[in-house]
Amino acid sequence: MSETFVTIARYQYSSEAQIVKGRLEADGIDVFLRDNITIDTDPLVSNAIGGVKLKVLSKDAEKANAILNSIQKYATDDEGKAIVCPNCGSNHIEMYSTINSFKSLFFFLIGFISGTLPFSTRYQYKCENCKTEFPIK
Ligand SMILES: [Zn+2]
Repeated sequence: MSETFVTIARYQYSSEAQIVKGRLEADGIDVFLRDNITIDTDPLVSNAIGGVKLKVLSKDAEKANAILNSIQKYATDDEGKAIVCPNCGSNHIEMYSTINSFKSLFFFLIGFISGTLPFSTRYQYKCENCKTEFPIK
């Protein structure tokens, strides 16, 4: 076997990677995810280990990249439907982590250790159009 795998994308969340995996497989591309189990166990390590890696056979890389470019520009829900801004209705929505500074990481760890921090406070959606930030359902 001379086939090799290449990493064509990285995702912070395995759910996101699973959606893309399903999309690529629908086009007959074999997809392999790396580190998704680790990240499901502890989402906080996702950034540390570089996220969930989405791999395909090198012969499929070009086709897979073309498909990737046509999808996944903006956040989608679990059914793959675009998330829509509650303020302006735009679907140009990005997911981002609220843990973007040392200070927020500190408070996150406090909440994490005490068990009082719900998932929804760690990640939010942000509308590119009107800059509205809103929580993940
Ligand atoms: Zn908006």
